[in-house]
Amino acid sequence: MSYKNFPMVSKVVFGRGSFNQLSEILAPKRLSMNAPFIYIIDDVFKNNQWLTSRIPLAYDDKILFISTEEEPKTSQVDAIVEDIILTTKELPSGIIGIGGGSVLDLAKAVSIMLTNEGEAKDYQGWDLVKHPAIYHVGIPTISGTGAEVSRTTVLIGPEKKLGINSDFTPFDQVILDSELTKDVPKNQWFYTGMDCYIHCIESLKGTYLNTFSETYGNMSLELCKEIFLDNNLTAEESEEKLMMASWHGGMSIAYSQVGVAHAMSYALAYVLGVKHGIGNCIVFDHLEEFYPEGVKLFKAMKEKHNIMLPQGICADLSDADFDKMTTIALNLVPLWENALGKNWKQIITPKKLKELYQKM
Ligand code: NAD
Ligand code: ZN
Repeated sequence: MSYKNFPMVSKVVFGRGSFNQLSEILAPKRLSMNAPFIYIIDDVFKNNQWLTSRIPLAYDDKILFISTEEEPKTSQVDAIVEDIILTTKELPSGIIGIGGGSVLDLAKAVSIMLTNEGEAKDYQGWDLVKHPAIYHVGIPTISGTGAEVSRTTVLIGPEKKLGINSDFTPFDQVILDSELTKDVPKNQWFYTGMDCYIHCIESLKGTYLNTFSETYGNMSLELCKEIFLDNNLTAEESEEKLMMASWHGGMSIAYSQVGVAHAMSYALAYVLGVKHGIGNCIVFDHLEEFYPEGVKLFKAMKEKHNIMLPQGICADLSDADFDKMTTIALNLVPLWENALGKNWKQIITPKKLKELYQKM
């Protein structure tokens, strides 16, 4: 038996208003006047002075505003990397991602691809990255995905939606300032928050469970219940707690795996472009069979917050689409093995999976 040896985020700041310390955190990391800091920021902040006025631009530093309409693609990473290489005199001093899971993943991927040859799609998988990434910083503005703490960056490639999982992927620095999440729209708050809740359930109910994952998972789950069910927190407390729930949920799956909901929603994302948070909710709503208690609680949270999930999203799909979706989902072997055990193929067949999709 050989145990996995995982890197973690090297430095983390936690606190309301800690975003103000960005300048002092970055200053010692500037390699030269010609090596800029590149900020990759969700374009929802484009005209937001409250946030952008605090970004300490100097020399050739620049901001790239990114639309998160669609999930990040390998081709998008390649284009950003090429643009940076063509327009900077030296390799950047650092890449700073400010946004949700989409932007954090883009920042991680760009920092990796600046020092590794070829195209981002060549690195989708496990431990394919050869050279350390450029110094990279993650600053979440919405909580739930755990992307701020994870060892992966999930990208849609020409053939699959899969992460670049590597020892070089985790951030060198994370800034957890819950104030940055104060304007997240309610529905999105729920969807991305539920990503965290689902990480907990899939980890805690999985066959890969161990004490490392279990302790983080339990902490995160308790926080999710406080936030989404109990309802006696101030907005500030709730934002802070969700930020930590996301972190602990990410830590929990680091040493285990996600499960049925993620396998199925990855395929939905690939074939229909359904985004991760809402896709997980649509799927999880129909998974009583696999996670009876988890789904019951999910439905209670959904009701409490008056969330209406889209229905019938698979209604017009062709058999070819269903085949594609079931194939993509079933290819995610570790997720099924974690969820259902070594004999998972006897429990979940293409036919059964298709029937589940048809309900959604
Ligand atoms: P997201 O980053 O797509 O953001 C969701 C929406 O919220 C966007 O419209 C965005 O503009 C908006 N938003 C973000 N911050 C805001 C703020 N402060 N105020 C107002 N609006 C704000 O969504 P997400 O759910 O955070 O991330 C989903 C992505 O994360 C997917 O691409 C998924 O694959 C990835 N993911 C990665 C990991 C990982 O470990 N790397 C884990 C889970 C999910
Ligand atoms: Zn997730």
